[in-house]
Parts: sequence; C-alpha cells; structure tokens
Amino acid sequence: MSIRRLPEKLVNRIAAGEVVERPAAALKELVENAIDAGSTRISVRIAEGGISRIEVEDDGCGITAADMALALERHATSKLPTDAIEDVITMGFRGEALPSIASVARLTLESRVAGGDGWKRVVDNGVVAAEGPAALANGTRVMVEDLFARVPARRKFLRSPRSEYAACLDVVKRLAMARPDIGFTVEHDGRRVLDVQGGQDQLTRVAALTQRDLAANSIGIDIDRADVHLGGVISLPTYNRGIADHQYLFVNGRPVKDRLLVGALRGAYADLLARDRHPVVALFLDVPTSEVDVNVHPAKTEVRFRDPQLIRGMIVGGLRRALDEHGFRSVQRPAE
Ligand code: ADP
Ligand code: MG
Repeated sequence: MSIRRLPEKLVNRIAAGEVVERPAAALKELVENAIDAGSTRISVRIAEGGISRIEVEDDGCGITAADMALALERHATSKLPTDAIEDVITMGFRGEALPSIASVARLTLESRVAGGDGWKRVVDNGVVAAEGPAALANGTRVMVEDLFARVPARRKFLRSPRSEYAACLDVVKRLAMARPDIGFTVEHDGRRVLDVQGGQDQLTRVAALTQRDLAANSIGIDIDRADVHLGGVISLPTYNRGIADHQYLFVNGRPVKDRLLVGALRGAYADLLARDRHPVVALFLDVPTSEVDVNVHPAKTEVRFRDPQLIRGMIVGGLRRALDEHGFRSVQRPAE
C-alpha cells in the first residue's frame, strides 16, 4: 500500500477526538480562548447540555476579518509569537481547538476588533458554509451547534443532556474560580445558572461558587516553601462529601485534575476521613514555570512537576499542620 497525506478535513476530525470528546471539552476551549483574548466579561449559553448548542460571547480583543480564516485553520495561533513553548502564559497555544470543533459540528464565528467592522464565518463539519459582515459589539461570539451530529460513533458516547450539562457547568466554574477578575454568566436552556461579577478577589469568588456553608467550615491556607506558594481553603474533616468533585485545584492559575495533587490531598486527610468521604477544597498552587510542565496533555488538566516529592510533601505537611492547629490531629504527626 502506498503512503498518502491525509486531507486537512480528515486530520481535523481525527484531532477532534482528542480535543473535544464531549460538549464540556469544546466549551472549555471556547472559554479559554475568551480568557486569552483579555475579556472582562464572558457569557455562556448552552442548550441540551451543550449537545444542540454552545455559545460563548466575550468582550475581548476580537479577530480581524483578515485573520478569521486562519483562526479556523489547524496549527494557526496568535499565542506563540516566537517558538518558545516554555514561555507560554496563555491557556491555549496549540491552534487546534477551533478547527477541531468545526470539523465535528456547525461552528459560527463572529468577531469584531475595536475600530473595525464585524465579520462572520460559518464552518459546517469541516466545510465553509457562509461568510460575511456581522453586527456585534467589540469582541467575539462563537456558536457550536449539533456537536457530533455527523459523527455517530462519537455521538453514541455522549451521556444524557443532564450529565453533559453538569460537566459544562463544572468547566465554567473552575475557570471562573481561576479568574476572579473576569465576570461570568451561564444560561442553560434559557435559565440563568451562574452569575459572578468581575473584579472579585480569590476567596470571594470561591465563596460565590461553592456552597454557602463552606466558609464557616473551612480553614484558610497560605504556605510558602522555597519559590512555591500554596493558598486557598480546605474544609474541616467534619464537612465532607461522598463524591470527590468538589475539589478545585489550580496550578499557576489553571484548573487541573492532577493525580499527584489529588493523592496528596488524600494523604493529608488520610486518617481524618473515611475512605469514601472527600473534603471540599479550593487550592491554588503557584510554582516557578521552570518547575512544572503544564503541556503534558492536549486537554491540559494534567501537569508534570520537576520535583513531585517536594510538592507532595508541602501539601501533605502543610495541610496536616493546618488541620492539626484546628484540633484535627492525625495519628501520624505532621511531616516536617
Ligand atoms: P489556540 O487558542 O491554541 O491559539 P484556537 O484554535 O483555540 O487555538 O484558536 C485559534 C486562534 O483564534 C487563537 O490563537 C486566537 O488568535 C483566535 N481566537 C480564538 N478565539 C478567540 C476569541 N474568543 N477572541 C479572540 N481571538 C480568538
Ligand atoms: Mg484555544
């Protein structure tokens, strides 16, 4: 058999399998783009758990009409002005999200830069379907309709609209917690389900996005070790949950679901909680960029630390000490 180069449309569809396995993953990419655009306000509207429609509107820098085609092309990004991947501070940079989503859905991109005219481009399952002027305020609006409608193999793996919706809301919550400076709203099937003002401090934002009684049942964390800082709140062992999805973890301002961090958390509470109970936490870890690689996975929820033991020791030791000071003494003494 001879070797052939795959057409762009097919390459995008294959990549889409990694980048957008469900509506929440597409939504995450769109909200991250809105954050990267320097927005102060981001509005999300979804219908049927995001399966029939996801819409993200921002007041960020916008995309010029001239750049719009490129924004929808694979490996095209404005976020790597040089080739120094190590220095990336934006949420995205791979230039894969928009073309991937557009290859498995109908994507409408409308944008307007300050002082420019609005422009719009529609790509329907990899094919440009329309292009022309659009009326909108400065910023960008992206609409994704009928995700996987033409990819039955993937559509089959979608869960119920209800659980897809839960995943979508979780994604926005985590990003909103990471960026208390930005205002966020979420509407699901026409109902407002999240609304936070911009310009909040971190703890106010955490309080706004978690249950009201957490504040009275948690401990503030503020630990420095070498160049590493750990801040946020952790619940008292008496305030716990049967599922582990109220654990909001951030590394250098990005939401992560990292095994090392989750393991360290479990270690800190080890003999204070039954095995099937979980604390509620919002923890923000700030590590010099030389100590952490956040680009391990395209979905970017896993990170790799240069010195995992240092991080683990700091979390387990620091949290144990904090719990200890509040009268929750581990059998094992806090590690030094
Ligand atoms: P990446 O974010 O990795 O660069 P994407 O496919 O997500 O790749 O986006 C491609 C490009 O489109 C971005 O680099 C950016 O220039 C532009 N873009 C996408 N969304 C927005 C937005 N909401 N506001 C401004 N520019 C955007
Ligand atoms: Mg992106």
